[in-house]
Amino acid sequence: MRNASFDFKRQVTVKLADERLQQALSRLQSRFVEGRSAVISEIHDLQETRDAAAQIRDRVLNNLGHWLLEFEERATSRGAVVHWAETVEDANRIVAEIAALHNVKTAAKSKSMVSEECGLNEALEKAGVEVVETDLGEYILQKAHEAPSHIVAPVVHKNKEEISDLFEKVHGLPRKTGIAELCREAREVLRPAFLNADMGISGANFLIAETGSALIVTNEGNGRLVTTLPRVHVAITGIEKVVPTLEDLSTLLRLLPRSATGQSITNYVSLLTGKRGEGDPEGPEHFHIVLLDNGRSSLLGTPMQEMLRCIRCGACMNHCPVYQNIGGHAYGWVYPGPMGSILTPLLDGIEKAPDLPNASTLCGACAVVCPVKIPLPDLLRKLREKQLTLGIRPQRETALLKAWSWLALHPRAYALATKIAVRAMNLMGGSKGLLHRLPGASGWTDGRDFPAPEGKTFRELYKERS
Ligand code: SF4
Repeated sequence: MRNASFDFKRQVTVKLADERLQQALSRLQSRFVEGRSAVISEIHDLQETRDAAAQIRDRVLNNLGHWLLEFEERATSRGAVVHWAETVEDANRIVAEIAALHNVKTAAKSKSMVSEECGLNEALEKAGVEVVETDLGEYILQKAHEAPSHIVAPVVHKNKEEISDLFEKVHGLPRKTGIAELCREAREVLRPAFLNADMGISGANFLIAETGSALIVTNEGNGRLVTTLPRVHVAITGIEKVVPTLEDLSTLLRLLPRSATGQSITNYVSLLTGKRGEGDPEGPEHFHIVLLDNGRSSLLGTPMQEMLRCIRCGACMNHCPVYQNIGGHAYGWVYPGPMGSILTPLLDGIEKAPDLPNASTLCGACAVVCPVKIPLPDLLRKLREKQLTLGIRPQRETALLKAWSWLALHPRAYALATKIAVRAMNLMGGSKGLLHRLPGASGWTDGRDFPAPEGKTFRELYKERS
């Protein structure tokens, strides 16, 4: 997928003015924030479980090569073929080669953010394979020629009326308005795609080293159809998704659906192990697993390694005041919200996403809800530091931060400068006590007035009161 993160600031202005989007995003609160809150308390030892989940992820990441080889050995022994893709181009080429090897003309696909990262659909279309998205949200987006705006609910930015209009246009059937009717129509249109597909493509939420299995959690039955009906199944995922044992998996599964969709468990939890064996009633004749690196291994052993703990639940974006107001498309790439503001610069280049590490109030809500305790605000701060070191922030901002840093290290000069500043701002605020413009802070004052201070610094007020 092409990275458009460079355009973030302009997109923010567009998205904030989009009333339809704002209305759609208001559903995040009831559907995800309140949904999570209602079920997360079912885990009585929540903090201990989060600690255990973080430890499981760290144990894998600290020895990733070992666990991946263990997974490969077990998966291969059950008849799967494991492929290693260093780049997205490698992943696309490998899947196209698998399609050519098995004479694949049509593919049915369930939701996979790694495939979005690769732009896999476009690559397969170029190779002569027709790809049909079968997750309802992804199907809607494929028909609308749009990208997902959320990693769990890809079509959260659209309302029912838009989907009714779209289905009427692309299906050529009488317009339906009820959600159940729309789902039934999509089901009827999609059924032949499952039955006729030569190849099924899925992601994998986790890979289990102990058994060589790939796990997918879904709420629609499409995942099971895609992975069992076609004669070839390709699962594509990131190298960091491996976990050592089924017991480790059970810990992570206590947290994933509750954090993601506010469900104690998803409708379907499918553990896919090997190809169809002799006498098996179902399953693919060929099972390929494509493991994508795309920059992930370069984070191992660095201060950013913690980001690889991510289990893609989406809780950080659901609770982020920035995401809640602009949605996912403004971020410009596959991964939005706080996790995307870190992953996009890390995986696709910090110079391509200069504003994302700053797209946060650092309120800390994301870290509080993250099931694997990723210190997201700290990682954002580290990326900001890296930007300054690399000199890729605007010169004026860098100069202001340097001046601030000097003042912060010289208390007397700090006291004098702040004294002068608050008095000057108080005068500038006039009788209404509002500043319409503030040098160096136009991002704030372009959209709202800044309340002028009372004319005394915090230290002066503190001294007076004590
Ligand atoms: S960073 Fe944490 S909260 Fe965000 S998607 Fe990943 S696991 Fe979920």
